[in-house]
Amino acid sequence: MGAMALLPTIGLEIHAELRTSTKMFCNCKNDPDEERPNVNICPICLAHPGTLPVINREAVRQVLRAGAALGGTLAHFSEFDRKSYFYPDIPKGYQISQYEHPLVTGGTLAGVAITRIHLEEDTARSTHGENKSLIDFNRAGIPLMELVTEPVIHDAKTAGDFARELQLLLRTLGASEANLEKGEMRIEANVSVASGEERLGTKTEVKNLNSFRSVERAIAYEIERQTKAFERGEKLAQETRGWDETKQETFHQRFKEGSADYRYFPEPDLPKLVLEDVPEFACEALTASLPELPSQKRERYARLGIKSDDRAYLAADVARSAFFDAVTKELDGRPKSTVLAANYFISDMAGDPCVASPSSFAALIQMFAANELSSRGAKDVLAIMITKGGEPAVIAKERGLGQIQDRGTLEAAVERVMEEEPGAVKEYRAGKSGTLQYLLGKAMKVTGGAGDPELLREILIKKLG
Ligand SMILES: [Zn+2]
Repeated sequence: MGAMALLPTIGLEIHAELRTSTKMFCNCKNDPDEERPNVNICPICLAHPGTLPVINREAVRQVLRAGAALGGTLAHFSEFDRKSYFYPDIPKGYQISQYEHPLVTGGTLAGVAITRIHLEEDTARSTHGENKSLIDFNRAGIPLMELVTEPVIHDAKTAGDFARELQLLLRTLGASEANLEKGEMRIEANVSVASGEERLGTKTEVKNLNSFRSVERAIAYEIERQTKAFERGEKLAQETRGWDETKQETFHQRFKEGSADYRYFPEPDLPKLVLEDVPEFACEALTASLPELPSQKRERYARLGIKSDDRAYLAADVARSAFFDAVTKELDGRPKSTVLAANYFISDMAGDPCVASPSSFAALIQMFAANELSSRGAKDVLAIMITKGGEPAVIAKERGLGQIQDRGTLEAAVERVMEEEPGAVKEYRAGKSGTLQYLLGKAMKVTGGAGDPELLREILIKKLG
């Protein structure tokens, strides 16, 4: 066969639990942090016969709002469907989902085209023990949005970046905490490889991806596994595979059902959604309600002169960027101080908001920018602020860390150095101007590194005559 170029293609299906106060079709509390099993339950989410579901308006709004943020087309008409399958954690025998009329179609994120976003209910959580299986219905009926991308991703890193950006967006919107380790965000990757003649090969669906790293590793593993099988002339099966974190490999779980097996049909117990009749669901209204999106934040940081890696890092965490934005506001958007603040925040505070308030952090940056603190002094004051809080001017005074600008003190330091270094003084006066830097260093040392360097230099030159 020779070196045939194989093109890997990846599409993602991402579920995220929405942060609503109640569940999707009943009034039970939606609390992902509830640790006691079967507390937030009622006849509706336990699927008792004869109960009727009621649509959670807030969940619909959140999906539409996410759609507006992604530049998707919001449906004018939508409906829910029954997706039939039998599983112990879905006692109705079907899940209420959406099929032909999702809430959102289209849109893009991080350069990846989105197919659709729909709304459905989460299933119960089952735990399998040695001789028994336990089911917790707290999760049953929690609103779940499912986002499906077009199969337009061709490498593992792009897939990982897309998922990270979606998590950040959902957190920014307040739509979901989207913690992977807590199962609030679940990622499935459809992976296939194909030769130049065919566009898409046989795809496998990889599940159990509990971190962004496992998303990237599982996709890379699948691409390699499928490429090798392709090159050996083996026929690949359409199957669902799991990811084994310990072995760092995917494994067969089951052969994939086609969508026809789910026997989708419109949910007869729910009304159709004529969304265009609801003013708060209009695209303009939802767009107007959006906060600054991560991409817009990075663009704003670019305009402030913050370098690429730093702006990505600052924008990557909601609490981090909120702290930094509060600092920026205090600094009144002055670019030089803002870049300085970004550097100190990232290198000395590791980008972690702490006990130091944004305003005291901004005050520290202003003191440094105004030469009231040396670079060393600023770092020392900041170290105290990080652990104990407090105002930088007070800390600097208490600890004697302020930049020394007192003329008398600096003159005394210069005089002492000239006394101790007669040789260097002689050299300078003989025309060896480079000696000035040496003497300045010595004088700075006498002040414990806190002397105002410009003032010190001025005094030294004057005294050396
Ligand atoms: Zn309930």
